[in-house]
Amino acid sequence: MTGADDIEAARRLVDAAQRVVVLTGAGISTESGIPDFRGPRGVWTRNPAAEKQSTIQNYLAEPEVRKAAWRSRLDSPAWRAEPNAGHRALVALERRGKLHALVTQNIDELHQRAGQSPELVVEVHGSMRRVMCWECGRRAPMEEALARVRAGEDDPHCRDCSGILKSDTISFGQALVPEVIDRALNAAAEADLLLAVGTTLQVQPVASMVPIAARAGARIVIVNDQPTAMDALADAIVREPIGEVLTAICAAKGP
Ligand SMILES: [Zn+2]
Repeated sequence: MTGADDIEAARRLVDAAQRVVVLTGAGISTESGIPDFRGPRGVWTRNPAAEKQSTIQNYLAEPEVRKAAWRSRLDSPAWRAEPNAGHRALVALERRGKLHALVTQNIDELHQRAGQSPELVVEVHGSMRRVMCWECGRRAPMEEALARVRAGEDDPHCRDCSGILKSDTISFGQALVPEVIDRALNAAAEADLLLAVGTTLQVQPVASMVPIAARAGARIVIVNDQPTAMDALADAIVREPIGEVLTAICAAKGP
């Protein structure tokens, strides 16, 4: 259990910091109605076929898997999701001049839609709002591909090279992008405070941002509703609802 004292401790650490690096996971988007895929009530836990759909080998090999994936993309409630108080609080942190980088495991672009500067956002798992061609690497807005599906194409291919199109996200079985991971880990080494939000910090290499920042002398604040793998490294841990907590610890104090 935590409470007002922990929030106050976290707020003081944020107030004192000048180069905050934020790491966000699925927990910050659940208040926007986007399900946590891996959690106990997660989409993949309840529907193993959905996990198969997002495995790159199956997606590339099986037209039926791609057709099912396009149908479920059309129906995804994530398109209608709006940023919540947690996303907005991190925009306030940027406006205070304290944000060095925001690394996110989320693919929903809700940070950018809340008003975060895109150049500060590092998307380690890509974005569901873009498509990429597996052959030529061309990227385009997801909306263009979805419009083709709505118009009757069940498995749209690249207009340039006829290659297979997929969501520009890191699927199971697909390698992370080394340049993006380097950027995330380098940012952690430059932080004077690392704020981890809505992640259990179990997925490497991104979870190693916490020990990297700690070794470089940064203070560590963790906001998550469950214990995380890195709690032992934290200077403050807060378990209250994320939107409320971030509003309390990131927004500038009033006059
Ligand atoms: Zn192509």
